[in-house]
Amino acid sequence: MRLGLDTDGGGGMAREYTFGKRTYLIREDALDGYCDLPGEPPEIWVDPRLRGRAALEAWVHEALHCIHPRWSEGRVDRAAKALSGFLWLIGYRRRK
Ligand SMILES: [Zn+2]
Repeated sequence: MRLGLDTDGGGGMAREYTFGKRTYLIREDALDGYCDLPGEPPEIWVDPRLRGRAALEAWVHEALHCIHPRWSEGRVDRAAKALSGFLWLIGYRRRK
């Protein structure tokens, strides 16, 4: 994952990340969570009002959609809950 420059594509400030083999715009907006894979560049949106473990789970969930675009919603949901729960348990928290 590589942190890129901030951009403003019209929906507020976004950060650019590269992971896997694609570059994504990472944006916080009032959507619970969204992964726009057909977009160019693809975008990940997460609701900035989410806090704590719910926010971590939303970011992991949307990233998994990008990494595994063929996974079902249920599979992504189960993996995101497990992985974010593990990360939370070992102490990962968001810095603000
Ligand atoms: Zn989903």
